Amino acid sequence: MQYFYSDYIINPPPKGAIFRAKTDDATITAYRSNKVLFQGKNPEKEAMIWQKFPAKKQNRHQQTNIGNVPTTRDKALAVVHQSHIGSDESGTGDYFGPITACAVYVRSDQIETLRSIGIQDSKTIQDQTIQKLVKELITMDIPYSSVVLSNEKYNQLQQSGWSQGKMKAMLHHTAISHVRNKINPHEKQIPIVIDQFCIPKVYTNYLRSENIVVPDNTHFMTKAETYSIAVAAASIFSRARFVEEMNRLSNEIGMDLLKGASHKVDEQIAKIIHLHGEKILRTIAKIHFANTDKAKNLL
Ligand code: MN
Repeated sequence: MQYFYSDYIINPPPKGAIFRAKTDDATITAYRSNKVLFQGKNPEKEAMIWQKFPAKKQNRHQQTNIGNVPTTRDKALAVVHQSHIGSDESGTGDYFGPITACAVYVRSDQIETLRSIGIQDSKTIQDQTIQKLVKELITMDIPYSSVVLSNEKYNQLQQSGWSQGKMKAMLHHTAISHVRNKINPHEKQIPIVIDQFCIPKVYTNYLRSENIVVPDNTHFMTKAETYSIAVAAASIFSRARFVEEMNRLSNEIGMDLLKGASHKVDEQIAKIIHLHGEKILRTIAKIHFANTDKAKNLL
């Protein structure tokens, strides 16, 4: 949990606590006694993220055999120069639009070529250039899979108790599985590098809750797009897909939907509710974001 809230930590923690964090919805205090307190505006909303992880009694049997837990950084660094699959996602912090994920298989002999055409972290490239790079990538012999979780489905899963982390995990896994099915059977053991978005063990738990075992040779790494060309390519594909979906939704609603989750977004939401009613948000937005309530306060 502390890792999950690392961007929101308030120091120093109160007496007897391991950490305290403050998000838009709640103040979260985790005590050494293994109790966690959620207080503030929307404590239920914040607590809901964790409801799929009921407190477990420490039990040796439960600790073993949970399936493969992805390894971290060092192992990932060791495989990024080999043929490997990389995966990344997009749209998770944007109020409007779906979340997308992509997995890409890059052979070791293709790494240099991809670098030379400018494949790198999509966050450092303008959306126009991204479109060009995508066109170039799809002419090459690079197996990839790009998947989209529509807003309708996203909101449905969120309301049934899925955290966004679980949705991301399932999207990464789906894209990776598609790519593994596209490549030769003798290449099935090739390493997988996932741009890290949660603790490896939590990823394993997300998949296990859907009866899925993490493939062998899966590695997690933060900022993986800097080290793995496959993850960089995946970041480009998933960003391109996100932008494409945003354009489609913008056309449908007749308004250029804004990316991100800023106050400007709140104003746009208010405008949309005024023009089309609140219901339409289910099909174009991640409605559990605090922006929805902020926008309603503007009406
Ligand atoms: Mn990422």
